[in-house]
Amino acid sequence: MPQSFHLVILGGDGIGPEVCDQSVRLLEIMQPHLDGVEFQLDRHSVGVGEYQRSGEALPQSAYDACLASDAVLLGAMGLPNVRYPNGKEIAPQLDLRERLQLYGGVRPIRLYHEADTPLKGHGPGEIDFVLVRESTEGLFYGRDAIADLEADEATNLLRITRSASERVCRLAFETARRRDGKKTVTLIDKANVLSSMVYFRHVFDEVAKEFLDIKAEHVYVDAAALFLVRRPQDFDVMVTENMFGDILSDLAAGLVGGMGMAPSGDIGDDAAVFQPSHGSAPDIAGQSIANPIAMHLSTAMMLEWLDHPETRRAADALNAAIADVLSDPTQRTADMGGNLSTVEITDKIAERLSKRLQGETTAV
Ligand code: ATP
Repeated sequence: MPQSFHLVILGGDGIGPEVCDQSVRLLEIMQPHLDGVEFQLDRHSVGVGEYQRSGEALPQSAYDACLASDAVLLGAMGLPNVRYPNGKEIAPQLDLRERLQLYGGVRPIRLYHEADTPLKGHGPGEIDFVLVRESTEGLFYGRDAIADLEADEATNLLRITRSASERVCRLAFETARRRDGKKTVTLIDKANVLSSMVYFRHVFDEVAKEFLDIKAEHVYVDAAALFLVRRPQDFDVMVTENMFGDILSDLAAGLVGGMGMAPSGDIGDDAAVFQPSHGSAPDIAGQSIANPIAMHLSTAMMLEWLDHPETRRAADALNAAIADVLSDPTQRTADMGGNLSTVEITDKIAERLSKRLQGETTAV
């Protein structure tokens, strides 16, 4: 009996379905090459489109499917011009993070070609780190607050709890242990100003004692922004509060080609959602020019996370196929200065992927 993996597919809004459909195509291409593994693909409609159709951005049936799944693959959700009656943006991806307790936003950043970075003197693999973003509290804890525009002030609470800090710090140390990197975790905080960050640092230092094989260090968030530009090669794994992670992950994506190159996995103890770090990019939706690489890299993360020898082999083959294609700097979508469409660049990856899975490993 093959091992069946129940994968929930949520396309979402804007460019979400465009890039997500291409990753599903890659899963379908790899399926016949995998021994003893079967993907059961379960598609659900979520996001602004679904809200307009049914009044529910995340219908209960879709949520139940996510709960029962082995993993969720998500394109992107939300559109800035469609909001709930109270003015709040429709962001079921944030609801999913909270309801499924997906506490760790794992965001690998890797440079594939020197032409893709605005920095000088960095070749393939010379920028290679992972940012782990706490995803259930921090400054996003106040996201439900509604500003009283007639009042004299507005405040948001930054919440740091021991349990959420411990689990995200552990995830960062485990990530550093698994990676073939510098075996270092850097806490990005603001402990020189905020007491909540002194507390976060204290919990980080406690967790660090469980991982004596991994070096632990601290950097203030403002300095981290500078160091990411000046010497990104020094980082291995970073862990940080929700809002700092939100901001630094866009900066980090900019180091390797932009939002279209930044994958992510939202990891919890009982569920995981894999999605590109970018949003629904309505400005380019429907034009077939979206860069699907972040979505494909997120798919590779999902396959690795499923942790079956065959899904790990599929993940390695997909990562290698992407690297093969990106080794030629003319093979790019418009956001990175090229002229390939979403489908065309996926075709090239698909071709390399099939060859990789059949054991033919010569680079293009
Ligand atoms: P969110 O708040 O939902 O994360 P955002 O406001 O940060 O969204 P994105 O949707 O991530 O914005 O995109 C910002 C811009 O980056 C888009 O307007 C688009 O031009 C570009 N962009 C994002 N993702 C891609 C992609 N996959 N391919 C090409 N361009 C992209």
